[in-house]
Amino acid sequence: MLKIGITGGIGSGKTTVCKVFETLGIPVFYADTVAKELMVSDPILIAGVKKAFGQESYAASGALNNKHIAQIVFNNQTELDKLNALVHPAVFRAFDSWAKKVPSNVPYTLKEAALLFESGSYQMCDKNILVTAPLELKLARVMQRDGASREQVLARMDKQWSDEQKSKMADYFIGNTEHQSIILQVLALHEQFLKL
Ligand code: ATP
Repeated sequence: MLKIGITGGIGSGKTTVCKVFETLGIPVFYADTVAKELMVSDPILIAGVKKAFGQESYAASGALNNKHIAQIVFNNQTELDKLNALVHPAVFRAFDSWAKKVPSNVPYTLKEAALLFESGSYQMCDKNILVTAPLELKLARVMQRDGASREQVLARMDKQWSDEQKSKMADYFIGNTEHQSIILQVLALHEQFLKL
């Protein structure tokens, strides 16, 4: 089964692009959503988080103590790396078992992840797509979507690689500005993937 990775900076529109692929019947694995679910459901991950960040990482009900974790990893790259080293393998395992359940008549699957290149998970994909948009447009979209300030969005963007860095590792690009049709670009890529 052909696996295509798809990523893009915050607000680039990667989720929006994935929705277009879904309308063509292509199954999409949303790694960031799955990661959040695994934090409260994967026993290996939960045990690892408790060991690394303390029992108080979870409430007695099993709910994640987001505030506690955020305080530790915020502005501390070593602690953030530690968290990622626990989360990423859990997501890899989940992706593997998800991919095994995809019906054999499906031509290819997509794996959407914000940190596709940063986490190394692009290596598990046969080809990778980078969704791009200008900084000001990405900022405006996320400020509107999340009700966040410019500074908050910029701080989140700071934690990701630049498009320039990511573009060196991407096989395909989708430009998502007001002047570019994502539908036409997705259709063109879909045709190419069917031939791979
Ligand atoms: P994040 O990394 O934060 O999850 P993302 O790259 O997945 O972001 P989306 O959530 O797809 O980005 O898009 C960000 C916002 O911009 C959303 O509110 C979405 O509806 C809007 N948006 C994205 N692309 C377009 C477009 N081509 N036209 C109009 N709105 C768009």
